[in-house]
Amino acid sequence: MTSTDRQKGLLQFLQQSPSPFHAVANMATLLDAAGFQRLDSSNSWSLDKNSRYYVSRNDSALIAFKTGVGDLPDSGFRIAGAHTDSPCLKIKPHADVFSQGYAQLGVEVYGGALLHPWFDRDLSIAGRVNYQNADGSLASILVDLKDPVGFIPSLAIHLDRTANEGRAINKQKELPPILLQLDEDEKFNFEDYLLEYLQTELGCFDADAILSHELLLYDTQAPALVGLRKQFISSARLDNLLSCFVALHALIEGKDETASVLVCNDHEEVGSVSASGAEGPFLKSVLQRMLESEDKAGGSSAASFDRAIQNSVLLSVDNAHGVHPNFSDKHDSAHSPKLNAGPVIKINANQRYASNSESIALLKSICNRLDIGHQSFVMRSDMGCGSTIGPITSALLGISTVDIGIASFAMHSIRESAGAEDVESMGTLIQAFFER
Ligand SMILES: [Zn+2]
Repeated sequence: MTSTDRQKGLLQFLQQSPSPFHAVANMATLLDAAGFQRLDSSNSWSLDKNSRYYVSRNDSALIAFKTGVGDLPDSGFRIAGAHTDSPCLKIKPHADVFSQGYAQLGVEVYGGALLHPWFDRDLSIAGRVNYQNADGSLASILVDLKDPVGFIPSLAIHLDRTANEGRAINKQKELPPILLQLDEDEKFNFEDYLLEYLQTELGCFDADAILSHELLLYDTQAPALVGLRKQFISSARLDNLLSCFVALHALIEGKDETASVLVCNDHEEVGSVSASGAEGPFLKSVLQRMLESEDKAGGSSAASFDRAIQNSVLLSVDNAHGVHPNFSDKHDSAHSPKLNAGPVIKINANQRYASNSESIALLKSICNRLDIGHQSFVMRSDMGCGSTIGPITSALLGISTVDIGIASFAMHSIRESAGAEDVESMGTLIQAFFER
């Protein structure tokens, strides 16, 4: 795949993946096309060596893996991890809000969203809807309205002269988007609207009620290459669909000899404690089943699992903070990553990142061999540090881990930016990591 094709593919993936459910569905499509066999966690597995598989959980997390040719306790796993979720506004179960003749939606803030950029954007709605079929069976469907169906207007500066002096946003009162201006006596119900949409838009949808939904709002502005020389990618959800996409392609395009695994968890932005999150059992259970499948005599044990883990490395891939030219004092001057200058190794003495000198040395040796530039990020000592799936997965499995990521601006904004060149170097690095 050429770098232009990869960039085009990335922009398309970002646009087509407004929710974690869509991201997983789109990754599954790419894996199907690349000869990965879909597995179901509720069935027993019979895995062949030197083969490609994937499995999803809650339709919002995914693990794709290659069984490799070696004996797993000896060879271990090469694991790359990322996450499918991004901060956003989620629609409440009883969403209808009415004020001044407008129909609005009650929303909850998901994760640590930067809220100001959500105002004055053309918003749409996407996610998963669950319902009951006529025969009583339960089913779900992915929904993406695609059209800009709502917006959250700012308050005019004339009505709030202090708006530019750091105004706080009341999440309950000030965030409900406007969907509709109602005629006098007109009634509106969001769930009825949704049901009608599904019935008219989808020929095969014959349910007569929606039971529940996980829907979120997203910005309809398409991802783009920006800057005078188009050196930057500008899009929603770069944290962390950028890493999901790059690592997925590295896995697909890499050689099949090593046992390599890609885990894309959900719920990283809210602490990872869930069945599909990094603190849940998803990854561990898949690794155990890979080992079990290899050991047909049934002798797979805690000891062989631990041996495999001790021979493994986790590359936890999540975006890093590039130093912002207008706010350069927010970085430690010796650890100020730039966009388009290569993967960033994230380090924190208090284990908010799981990188240690051994795992960092391994990563740097791969970068040096491939002639890929690398950078280091350490938070300023007088500021708190974020975290990611690396330390959680490392602690859960006891696996040596290095936290890395592509330098980006505006993390957790409705529109983030990153360096277009870094997509290529990160892809090359992850592929080499999988193959070593
Ligand atoms: Zn992230």
